[in-house]
Amino acid sequence: MMRFERVAVIGVGLIGGSFALALKSAKACGQVVGIGRSAANLRLALEKGLIDFVAADASDADLILVATPVAQFPQVLASIAPRLKPSAIVTDAGSTKRDVVAAARTALGAKFRQFVPAHPIAGAEKSGAGAAQAGLFRGKRVVITPLPENSADSLQAVEAAWTACGARVSRMSAEEHDAVFAAVSHLPHLLAYALVHEFAARANSVQLFGYAAGGFRDFTRIASSHPEMWRDICVANREPLLAELDRYADKLRALRPLLERGDGAALEELFTEARAARERWLNGEVE
Ligand code: NAD
Repeated sequence: MMRFERVAVIGVGLIGGSFALALKSAKACGQVVGIGRSAANLRLALEKGLIDFVAADASDADLILVATPVAQFPQVLASIAPRLKPSAIVTDAGSTKRDVVAAARTALGAKFRQFVPAHPIAGAEKSGAGAAQAGLFRGKRVVITPLPENSADSLQAVEAAWTACGARVSRMSAEEHDAVFAAVSHLPHLLAYALVHEFAARANSVQLFGYAAGGFRDFTRIASSHPEMWRDICVANREPLLAELDRYADKLRALRPLLERGDGAALEELFTEARAARERWLNGEVE
């Protein structure tokens, strides 16, 4: 197993903290330093043993994980660029990839090849160091979107780090990544926020929430996610997300006449097909 002597995590929240904890549990790292913007969160990260030290910069690190909201990347990467060791590898956990790659290209300049973009497909609607857990990535996927500039060794090192966390690593282009996650992740979050917001604004919202039960809870769980993080994802990936929003609106428009004419047979057929597709997915038959 590959071992990283000095790891720096910039943004020790749910994802960064869980990465640190998972590497430590796997004995795949030496010291982990945490870099953050909230002193209270860093204190909690120290107390929970996610990190060993708080540092002002990541210049000593062999492996640096950037796990802040994606709009912070230009500033964060620019701050580490000047003192980055030639042997250091920088990776990230950002939920979008084209904007992150563009930020890295600008901020890192000649050191761009040291940046290996990645996205763990695991998370929760909770945030901060308090939510971190060692097993968050176990059995989950991580997508690496390699750059032509990356060395085989740096790709292998980032894959090894995520494998040590228990994840299954796959590769795709940044463009494909952003299109896929606009559909399966970013759109559902937008819909969940929109539905809760719509009900909250109604005159009878107290009554609506009073009677809302399991279905509403399941559909809207992800509307409890961190607003800053989702603001950044939606803005960064707005083009693919708008395309998905339009396709979803088309689907609802196609559904409307079925409802208008009370076409039970057509609705049942659609629901049956959707349920079967979801069951295949839940049973792991479509990977
Ligand atoms: P989080 O809010 O739990 O953690 C982010 C941390 O970054 C916070 O501790 C915050 O104080 C810190 N931070 C913010 N700006 C900073 C800056 N300029 N410098 C240093 N620290 C800064 O969020 P999270 O859920 O861990 O998400 C982190 C990243 O991982 C985001 O890019 C997100 O898109 C991505 N991601 C999240 C999930 C998820 O489900 N939560 C899943 C996969 C990827």
